[in-house]
Amino acid sequence: MKTCLIYGLILFTTIVSAQRKAPIYIQPLGKVNTTTIHKVKKSMELFYHRSCEIKPMVNFTPDILADSKTRYEAGNILRKFSSNKNVLIITEKDIATAKGNIKEWGVFGFGYRPGSTCVISTYRLKRKVVNAQFIDRLNKVAIHEIGHNIGLPHCTSGNKHCLMNDAGGTIAQVDNEQILFCNKCNSLIK
Ligand SMILES: [Zn+2]
Ligand SMILES: [Zn+2]
Repeated sequence: MKTCLIYGLILFTTIVSAQRKAPIYIQPLGKVNTTTIHKVKKSMELFYHRSCEIKPMVNFTPDILADSKTRYEAGNILRKFSSNKNVLIITEKDIATAKGNIKEWGVFGFGYRPGSTCVISTYRLKRKVVNAQFIDRLNKVAIHEIGHNIGLPHCTSGNKHCLMNDAGGTIAQVDNEQILFCNKCNSLIK
């Protein structure tokens, strides 16, 4: 039993560490500003030291709509685009997921932990801000969601500047973060 557990851990560690070096595929879902996509690509390459490839745009389909039909369901998107490659989906449309009693809680991003698929939305990040701040927010959310894919949970160190804090739908939290993982989060990926 113990041996089995150890082999299981070794296998998991091998998969996760292989993923940390694998390319990230950026998948635009619907029309997404080209400059925005390239900024995210550069940010991912700088932060994770992984190559990024931009995939051709794919169109929205009714099966990924949320029940209200006014936004898209983040879980549906992940399931639809689930892949053995690390895919970062980016969309300009609003995305939501169930949270407690709220069926459609609008989110900035959503990703499997661990896993290979995540999605980020520009929709809630660009309100009332200049472009530079919007891009800063988007890069932070992208790094956070890929962080989940490589196995990181939400930050528990108390360092509010760490990118792995749960934003909880609050843009002020994202703005308060810096482009870094705290020592505790960093120790989990090394
Ligand atoms: Zn942290
Ligand atoms: Zn998160």
